[in-house]
Parts: sequence; C-alpha cells; structure tokens
Amino acid sequence: MISVAQALQLTLSHSKKTNKTISIPIHKALGFVLAKDILSPINMPPFRQSAMDGYALGSIEEKSYTLTGEVQAGDDSDPVISKGEAIRIFTGAPVPKGAKAVIMQEKVSIENNQVVIEETVLENSNIRPAGEQIKKNEIALSKGTIIAPAGIGYLASLGITEIEVYLKPSIAIVATGNELVAPGQSLQFGQIYESNSVMLSAALQTYGFTAVDFFKIEDQYEATRTVLDKVIHQYDVVLISGGISVGDYDFVGKALRDLKVEEIFYKVKQKPGKPLFFAKKEETTIFALPGNPASSLSCFYIYVIPALQKISGHPHHDLKRGTAISDSNYKKKGQRAEFLKAIVADNKATILDGQASSMLRSFAVANAIVYLPEEIHEVKVGDTLQIIDLP
Ligand code: AMP
Ligand code: MG
Repeated sequence: MISVAQALQLTLSHSKKTNKTISIPIHKALGFVLAKDILSPINMPPFRQSAMDGYALGSIEEKSYTLTGEVQAGDDSDPVISKGEAIRIFTGAPVPKGAKAVIMQEKVSIENNQVVIEETVLENSNIRPAGEQIKKNEIALSKGTIIAPAGIGYLASLGITEIEVYLKPSIAIVATGNELVAPGQSLQFGQIYESNSVMLSAALQTYGFTAVDFFKIEDQYEATRTVLDKVIHQYDVVLISGGISVGDYDFVGKALRDLKVEEIFYKVKQKPGKPLFFAKKEETTIFALPGNPASSLSCFYIYVIPALQKISGHPHHDLKRGTAISDSNYKKKGQRAEFLKAIVADNKATILDGQASSMLRSFAVANAIVYLPEEIHEVKVGDTLQIIDLP
C-alpha cells in the first residue's frame, strides 16, 4: 500500500496535459486554459480618455478658464482647446487634443461662463493615456492562463470574441453493483438507490467538466469487461464506482487487468478510500473509485480533480489547502491517513459526526475536509489542522 503523498504524486505524474485545443467563444470559456498567448488587437484605452466628470483644461497655469464646449462619452467630436480655455467633459469621453489636464467638477466653481480653480493642477491629471492598460500587439493574456470572469471581461474589452483553449477531457462514469436502482423507482428488499453517478457528475460540474456520459453494470465479469473495454477506448477519463474491493463479486480490478491497462497503483493508506485503483491505457486515464459514497467523493476531490485539471492544462493542480484550529477532539482508530468531513468557519474546524465511508450526511453539509496524515493519531481542541477547501 502506498501513502497519500505517493498516490497523489503518481496520479499527477501520469496525467499529461492534453495537446488537443479548440477555439471557443469567450462567453463559454470560463475555467478553460489558454492554449496560446493572446495579443491585444487594440490600444486600451483606444484614445486619451477622461477619468472624471469635470473640465478639460487647455493649460494649467491659469486660475480662470473660458468654457467653450462639451464632450460626452461616446462623442466623436474633436473640439479644439487653447490656452485659458476649458471644455466640459465626462468620464470615458475623449479628451480634446491639446488639453493639459482634466479637473474634477467638485474642485471648481462656475462664474459667468468661467471655470474658476483654487488649487494647483498637475499636468495630465485625470487623463488615461491611450494604451495605458495595454498597447496593440502586446500580450494581453499568456498561454496557460485559467479563464476567470475578469479574464472574460478583459478579453471582451479588447474586442476579442474567440480564444484557443485546451480541450477538457470527455468523461465516462461507470456505476457497478447489482443492488443499485435509480432514484424514482421503488426499492425492493436488498436494493439501495444509486447515488454516486449524480454526485460525481455534480462534483465534475463544479469544476467545469460537463462532457460526461453514464454507464451502469451488474456485478458480472463479462459485462464488466465489455463495458470497460468500450469506455476505455471512447473516453479520455473513466471513473468507475464500486467493484474494486476484494469481494467475490468485485470484477473491476480483474477486468481492467485482463484488458491490459497499465496499473499505476492499487490501495492507498487512507480512510476512507483505501481500495482506490489508478491506471492508464494509452491516453485514457482510469480511476476505479471505491463504491462507498463518501470514499468515492473523497477520492474524487483528492486525486481525480487534480488529475483532470492537469490534463486540461492548469498550471497548478493542487487542491486549495490551508489550516484551521480544531474545535473538536478526535481519536483515530487505525494507522491510515484520514480525510474527515468538517465545517470550517472563522478559521475554526469542527469535525462532524458520521464519518463512515457509507455515509453522505456529514459530507452533504461539510465545507472542508480535514486531512490527518498517518503520523497524527489524535486531535485535540486547539490543534492546528490541515484543511482542504470544498467547492
Ligand atoms: P463496492 O465498492 O462495490 O464494494 O461497494 C461498497 C458499498 O458502496 C456497498 O455498500 C455498495 O452498495 C455501495 N455503493 C456502491 N456503488 C454505489 C453507488 N453507485 N451508489 C450508492 N452506493 C453505492
Ligand atoms: Mg459492489
């Protein structure tokens, strides 16, 4: 069995950035990673722009200026301004050629068509020079940038409509288990509702992965092998839930090995999620996640998401980690590292009741996972804990 750190390192080293790129409209680009540098097609701002509502001044030495006109935002007029003259101007409007400064309207008084100024005016004050933010043909955003809402706004401000990004992987979610029925059907004795598929696909959605298809297999070797063979060839990433443990009807491991996948690791010294299996088959990345719902989701956050982000071109692909002060006492029962569902508020972490791998009740209200490495056996109120933020 390998450690959490080893498993994470192996997961990342075997997840390679895709070389597939696509051109997409910027309004659909949230969370994608730029595959090319983007050069600005324009100067921004495109012209000398007023940063204030006020008066453009033809010189800065006078105490009084004659008001000769007005420019509004969006005006294409280009009035001439001379020494001793002022032009009424508004935020975002083009500053008249020859204007030496713009003065805020709060700082002047108007007397008989004269703009009267009490204080010293600095040259170019309240004027945004053309190209102040970025000049035409400069790099606006570099390859590898993750597109955030501000990035979309910034690209739009430069008039850019389409960008080249790394393709996100296509993902198959395969649920195994004879006992599973879809929510909405009535439960017969011995059955439970299948919950991992919707949960994993929702978790994928929160990270912007939406190219997901669903499969369901019974605990039967031939069926398992047939479906896995198909999805491994059709998808970039395969997430299997259940059937990877040591029971007589757990066929996922045998089917994957018979399909000659390259096994990278099986079993991690962690709780929940010990029987995690990670493999590659050519370009396809395969995670067999333990079927217990909390194990599945923990493995998803710890290993699957960093792998998917790396494949999608993210420059850093670690979960957001931090620390918090424990509000709880907790004693480990075994030796493995543990991931505990917790609520963190005001830098205090409360470890929740109901940590069993079969339970989702605590996970459903948690906003963080507390990571207890192997060497920590007990937590006391006041201890500093490692925290992984949940989205
Ligand atoms: P397994 O990993 O197949 O041994 O399953 C471990 C436990 O998780 C069993 O109690 C299963 O019934 C349950 N389980 C497996 N897959 C799912 C699923 N997709 N949804 C809900 N529970 C599941
Ligand atoms: Mg099963």
